[in-house]
Amino acid sequence: MMKIKPLFLTLYATLLLASGVSVAKDVKIGMAIDDLRLERWQKDRDIFVKKAQSLGASVYVQSANGNEETQMSQIENMINRGVDVLVIIPYNGKVLSNVITEAKQENIKDIAYDRMINNADIDFYISFDNEKVGELQAKSLVEKVPSGNYFMMGGSPVDNNARLFRAGQMNVLKPYIDSGKIKIVGDQWVDAWLPENALKIMENALTANRNNINAVVASNDATAGGAIQALQAQGLAGKVAISGQDADLAGIKRIITGTQTMTVYKPITALATTAADIAVELGNGKTPQSNATLNNGLKDVPSRLLTPIPVDKSNIDSTVIKDGFHKKSEL
Ligand code: BGC
Repeated sequence: MMKIKPLFLTLYATLLLASGVSVAKDVKIGMAIDDLRLERWQKDRDIFVKKAQSLGASVYVQSANGNEETQMSQIENMINRGVDVLVIIPYNGKVLSNVITEAKQENIKDIAYDRMINNADIDFYISFDNEKVGELQAKSLVEKVPSGNYFMMGGSPVDNNARLFRAGQMNVLKPYIDSGKIKIVGDQWVDAWLPENALKIMENALTANRNNINAVVASNDATAGGAIQALQAQGLAGKVAISGQDADLAGIKRIITGTQTMTVYKPITALATTAADIAVELGNGKTPQSNATLNNGLKDVPSRLLTPIPVDKSNIDSTVIKDGFHKKSEL
């Protein structure tokens, strides 16, 4: 009896190989995150790690806390540890070409997660339709404030997404600007997406415009939070329309109290679990399914883009609460 089992297993494996089905291996993944100080990335990490582990993979996570050099050395460290796949949320998408080349030399597969890595030989990009995110933000604002003074508050200048959000915002705003209905009274980018930087920018913008601002095109909830603090100090919170993104708990609470107009909910569970599937597939030498191709300056990168959802007071229950992204009791 004892001998039959190994013999049976060997035959089974041989049959699988002959039929072209590969036997899945336990994939080692390195996850290099830009900045775990922001709420959304903690969710991404937790969901990704859980899903990857359920697929038999192990995940080694590092956060660079918004520092370019730290992120590069963390990725090098992961390469030295012998990971099979790198899943990278870049702080600066433009400086990782060399480390990706190093990873490639070690046969490591590379995935750009949420943010594109430019000019690098990566294998896959998974994200949301980020231009669409920007369109949703501007659309909500022009519905509320079809004419008046607009302040543009972009995200981190070294985040490729920040430029895509801006492109989407401008797709919607351009006809209003051209017809003279909307006037752009200022345009700034928030370093590292930090609320404290957004607060200062908003204070200065209010001073420069003698508080005469009707809408703020903020690109995410963290920066909207900083801007709203500055508006509050001038008694303007709730009077000035302002967008956001991420459906952060604080952002949803501000929508309920009326100080923030909208947010964009990006179902992180779908992103993180799909990314874990893709990482394990790549680690096993398979080709993951893509639904788009994006050029990153070096190549056309096979991509999977998911759909963002606008959220305002009217649909909080049917989106973030229904999905369990937040609990009703937390609001
Ligand atoms: C993400 C946003 C996030 C921002 C700051 C962007 O690249 O797409 O969801 O709010 O980074 O972390």
